[in-house]
Amino acid sequence: MVEEFFELFKTPWEFYRPGRAYDVVVASADEVSEVGTKLLVVYGSAAKSIDGRIGIVAGGRQQCAILSDGNISLPIYGDLLTFENSNNGTSCVTAGSQIAGVRVEVRDSAVIRLGYDLFDQVRFLLSTGQPIEHAHIPTLDIHIRMLRDWILNEGIPLLEIPPTPAGHSFAVCLTHDIDFVGIRNHKFDHTMWGFVYRATVGAVVNLFRGRISMGQLVKCWRAVPSLPLVYAGWAKDFWEPFEWYLEVEKGLATTYFLIPFKGRAGEQVPGAHASWRAVAYEVDDLSHWTGRLKAAGCELGVHGIDAWHSAEKGRAELAKIAEISGESNIGIRMHWLLRDANTISVLEQSGYSYDSTMGYNETIGYRSGTAQVFRPLSAKTLLEIPLHIQDGALFYPQRLDLSEAEAEKRCQALIDNAGEFGGVLTLLWHDRSHGPERFWGDFYLRLVQQLKSSDSWFATASQAAGWFRKRREMRFEWLADGNGVRTILASEGEKNLPLLNLRVYRPSIARDDVRPSSSATPTLVDIPWDGRTAVEFDSSLSRISDLPVAMSASEISR
Ligand SMILES: [Zn+2]
Repeated sequence: MVEEFFELFKTPWEFYRPGRAYDVVVASADEVSEVGTKLLVVYGSAAKSIDGRIGIVAGGRQQCAILSDGNISLPIYGDLLTFENSNNGTSCVTAGSQIAGVRVEVRDSAVIRLGYDLFDQVRFLLSTGQPIEHAHIPTLDIHIRMLRDWILNEGIPLLEIPPTPAGHSFAVCLTHDIDFVGIRNHKFDHTMWGFVYRATVGAVVNLFRGRISMGQLVKCWRAVPSLPLVYAGWAKDFWEPFEWYLEVEKGLATTYFLIPFKGRAGEQVPGAHASWRAVAYEVDDLSHWTGRLKAAGCELGVHGIDAWHSAEKGRAELAKIAEISGESNIGIRMHWLLRDANTISVLEQSGYSYDSTMGYNETIGYRSGTAQVFRPLSAKTLLEIPLHIQDGALFYPQRLDLSEAEAEKRCQALIDNAGEFGGVLTLLWHDRSHGPERFWGDFYLRLVQQLKSSDSWFATASQAAGWFRKRREMRFEWLADGNGVRTILASEGEKNLPLLNLRVYRPSIARDDVRPSSSATPTLVDIPWDGRTAVEFDSSLSRISDLPVAMSASEISR
């Protein structure tokens, strides 16, 4: 958990070794010995041996509290310890009217004591995930920002590899789960009757609710009687997805998750309508399209049926898509987003390189509290690309049921967060959403335009995972004299990905002048880095040399 946290907050660190000098020590143990450091951050909801020594008095306990540090709300899962007001320290985090974090000055160092365990929070977020009511909060990304701010506020310089490809503020994954391919595959089944109802009665209701225009109502009413012609092959199938998406996403990297086997509802599917999960097409029926998609640079992934609970079936689903895509790195998103506690291990056994199921059907936001690609705690190599925005959650009457204006506001908040925190913003637009009776195509078009006008990097899911893998392959080595650090790229991995950024924060004022209320913002320098040299920084994070990697490798082995 600690290791994963410092893959997400990627900065030089190591497990504490007595006798070594550190700028910052982060502790969650109950016994915290005297450590000579500029900043000691102590996390935990249990009493700590250090509390008495620095005059901190524990107050009451809260469950599932909401923290605030002035401008943010941050849910804490599980126990929170609060502290009594004392003149010994200053409150830096509150929970309602209670103090949840205190900063105390001890001789010439600072201690920040928080009433929760950061690493318990990480465990909860990356495994269970946030409840729907907190979906909109990038909780884990805020934890990282808080720790970074505390370090910088003490006037300590910081080296970080941010989750932002060089030259971009964040990455975008446009993804499509292909569940239908067309209405042609649905003659007199529940899908067709559902459409007929929604495109006639439902469309009138939606007109009165202001959700569709008169023109769209007319389109619905034309679509229904055209069904026999569509079935006969004489009229265009208005649900056909690929032509439309290829046009809208021209030149942008896109990922399609395709069903490997038709007619399979899957085993262990919960709910009353489990049989509805069966899909009427399979990837073999799409030979005309899969070639065109590949030629357009799109990625083909697995839209999994049984892979979430059976490694044997997971392997068969993977093999089916790999045969058609011709790629060795295959990713997956589960149909209906089904998953359980074992899913990640099962997927890893099946050989998937990434999963992108961690999201919500009910709402949009951050199930894992982050937009970063991460390694789930039960995985060895598999990465999770969290899913953030999906069409059905925004617009279905039984989900958020938003108007386009409201949906735009919600999406904009996530885009703003991506600009601030980096990571990958993952969108899911389903295959028949552009056509009648949904008409969610214009909204999607505007959303894509909005993202194109930002400085985001459009990546296929596999490219996004590859970039984050490269970032994980980036290691820090301490210089031999202990006064500095060197960055090395352990393995380059996939080529043709954006560079990593070496970000150096340098405090603008000397540490002696710093007080917790200091508003002096540190200067920030980004150094795009291709990994071909080992870059050395001294202890004040001035860049002292660039060594060819081969040379630094031999030096390191010495
Ligand atoms: Zn699906």
